[in-house]
Amino acid sequence: MNVSSKQQQQVAGANGVQKCAVVVVIDPGHGDTHDESSVVDPGAVGGGLQESDYVLEVSKLLKGKLAARTDVIEAVHLTREGIANDPSQEKLLWRQKVAVAKKADIFVSLHLNSNANTAALGKEVYYNQKASNKAESAKLAASLYAAYKLPLDPRGVKTMGLSVLATYKWKSKKLGIWRDSTIFQSVKAAALFELGFISNTGDRTAVLNNKDPIAEYLCEGICSYASANRAALCGP
Ligand SMILES: [Zn+2]
Repeated sequence: MNVSSKQQQQVAGANGVQKCAVVVVIDPGHGDTHDESSVVDPGAVGGGLQESDYVLEVSKLLKGKLAARTDVIEAVHLTREGIANDPSQEKLLWRQKVAVAKKADIFVSLHLNSNANTAALGKEVYYNQKASNKAESAKLAASLYAAYKLPLDPRGVKTMGLSVLATYKWKSKKLGIWRDSTIFQSVKAAALFELGFISNTGDRTAVLNNKDPIAEYLCEGICSYASANRAALCGP
């Protein structure tokens, strides 16, 4: 089934009401190799915790919760289930390729923040304001942020030209080549959540002690968005 036919697909619900097949891809940040040394990117590290391990654990919890929401979600996948090896050395782009291969409508990348100033703290969600799907992504980001009830400092919904959420051609400074991320256009909404600061003791303790509630909040944010925006997700 190609993407365009999927967009047209309607699935009859148990009560006879038409529902569309919304596919979610969750991206646990970092935890991949993308150079010849095969060094795994741990993400941020603090207090004995690795960002890559933490977001993978929460992503697996979230996957289970989304899979149970058959009223809204047709299928859910992770970009990685453990350490990901990227033989193409295309940093970040492999995550988009997984999302497109899985026919994702919704893409959510999970991270922990870090700052040399250990007083920095709080929760924030990003979407890419340059992306062609920016309108839907803004709604997804707002829904995720509203549902995330962990009482951390509210840093808000923000925009940034994050390449993992990109749908445009950009030049990699590290590799010195142009990279084509236009394949990501089939994803209808994409956001990146910084769940808290690993470098801040209070935030770190809060996220460590609330993995399951955090997964529940994220599930609610995704499902609320999907429920309220079925027309955009189902296509014409
Ligand atoms: Zn990160």
